Amino acid sequence: MKCFVTGGAGFIGSHLVDSLINQGHEVTVYDDLSSGKKEFISHHFDNERFLFIRADLVNKKRLEKEIQGHDVVFHIAANPDVRSGADDPSSAEKDIRATYTLLDAMRNTGIHKIVFSSSSVIYGETPEKPLPEEYGPLLPISVYGAAKLASEGLISSFSHTFDMQAWIYRFANVVGIRGTHGVIVDFINKLRNNPHELEILGDGKQKKPYLYVTECVEGILYGFNHANEQINVFNLGVDSTTEVTRIGELVVEEMGLTDVSFSYTGGKRGWKGDVPHFQFDISKIGELGWKPSLSSDEAVRRATKDVLNRILINH
Ligand code: NAD
Repeated sequence: MKCFVTGGAGFIGSHLVDSLINQGHEVTVYDDLSSGKKEFISHHFDNERFLFIRADLVNKKRLEKEIQGHDVVFHIAANPDVRSGADDPSSAEKDIRATYTLLDAMRNTGIHKIVFSSSSVIYGETPEKPLPEEYGPLLPISVYGAAKLASEGLISSFSHTFDMQAWIYRFANVVGIRGTHGVIVDFINKLRNNPHELEILGDGKQKKPYLYVTECVEGILYGFNHANEQINVFNLGVDSTTEVTRIGELVVEEMGLTDVSFSYTGGKRGWKGDVPHFQFDISKIGELGWKPSLSSDEAVRRATKDVLNRILINH
């Protein structure tokens, strides 16, 4: 299979690329390196089944030239920073335009399959119960979430109008090796600056599911190989959750620190647009035959070890 991976030099994208290459596929990574890193994919540079193109998705001419001849598009590229939207919402406009440009390029070059990395945040503020894929109305509270929902809408409409097939995955919080952002990285950075105090955004009671990155990739490929509707939508996460204060405790433990006091900025959200409680119903992909093996706490602990190991190697 000839795979076109947008955002393939990023955290999740680069793990997907590793799996696709290991399974014998040909892979083109199309990434502008706005948040991705060459070093995440450089181990494939000598492989003749691998090609890296540094370019922006909104560059329509370049995209249409490079995408030709591929069998499937894995659309992983986006600005993943949910928080930044509260200061500057323009990344939503860019990401929606990127998805539109991509779909139009697929239409013009006769590519019919798209796999998309959506997010749990499209559900918005929800009741405290596990949410199935059919939950609605979908009213995101962050501009990042709105951009993801808009992209889902574009993908659905292009699929119906231009005979495409889509696999849409709503990820939980994804953590693990090569992780560059998010609560674990934040806590480790803060504690390296001051090993006696950890400032936690909000009241620390925010509770969400955390999925380990290699399991995320496993789920994406499992659903792609086993679901065959025109539009296949799946929650991809775990059925447990981890409280933010618990993440603080796990990070402190893994860093071998004692005597750390936690302070809270207060309020139930970490920032504007933060969904404080969230639980996934993952039975739909479970019924297909896939479920993650690590719980949310286990994923957080393993990801903490990964980030700490990387810091150790880089020093
Ligand atoms: P990441 O920043 O590591 O990866 C995104 C990649 O896309 C980067 O390599 C970046 O350079 C590239 N990119 C961004 N805009 C581009 C553009 N216009 N043209 C070309 N390349 C572009 O982030 P990640 O955490 O690996 O996230 C991957 C995807 O999964 C994103 O779509 C994100 O929204 C989604 N997601 C992530 C999480 C998570 O917890 N990490 C949760 C839900 C959804």
